[in-house]
Amino acid sequence: MVQTKYQKMIVITAPSGAGKTSITRHLMKVFPQLSFSVSAATRKPRSNEKKGIDYYFISVEEFQQKILNEEFVEWEMVYEGKYYGTLKSELKRIWNNEQIPVLDIDVQGAIHVQKEYPVNSLFIFIKPPSIQELTKRLESRGSESKDSLEARVNKAAYELSFAHQFNNVIENKDFETACNEAVRIVKGFINN
Ligand code: 5GP
Repeated sequence: MVQTKYQKMIVITAPSGAGKTSITRHLMKVFPQLSFSVSAATRKPRSNEKKGIDYYFISVEEFQQKILNEEFVEWEMVYEGKYYGTLKSELKRIWNNEQIPVLDIDVQGAIHVQKEYPVNSLFIFIKPPSIQELTKRLESRGSESKDSLEARVNKAAYELSFAHQFNNVIENKDFETACNEAVRIVKGFINN
């Protein structure tokens, strides 16, 4: 898919539990010109999640068909057996609305997008203060089974090693400070 020079995009990435979804939500409130890019995913919806708002929840078969049809900008099997991907149609929908898509995606997905869209894209890596703190946050979320929690913590430790590949790294030690930093970076990007 061709991204013209007017078509900006923002990618927020982090290990799971680093707080990127909360920071992303904050950015969406501050900047009306941003629009959340809803990904396709094959995991089950959590009790508070809505179809088409949090994710397009689809079956593994549907997801694999979309891979074959080249409908994704990027996709990853983020966790064992669970696919997540950014749809080309989603970015087009947002650009057609003259808004800037905000992708909340995992680190490998972000690296992939960075290669494909090196111009006009802003990449922000959110870093948790420590793996211990991240484990505590995931536990308090209470949405993960013991196995899923362990998988997320292991993956997070690995993903942290990619922070240096991103221009903008924000440490989420204090939520308000991290949000202010994200707002400052996004403002600069939008006005550029
Ligand atoms: P969760 O299951 O907690 O909603 O998301 C798990 C991870 O998948 C998070 O790091 C989230 O950012 C990432 N993710 C969500 N959508 C996408 C996507 O479209 N592509 C990739 N690569 N990762 C995604």
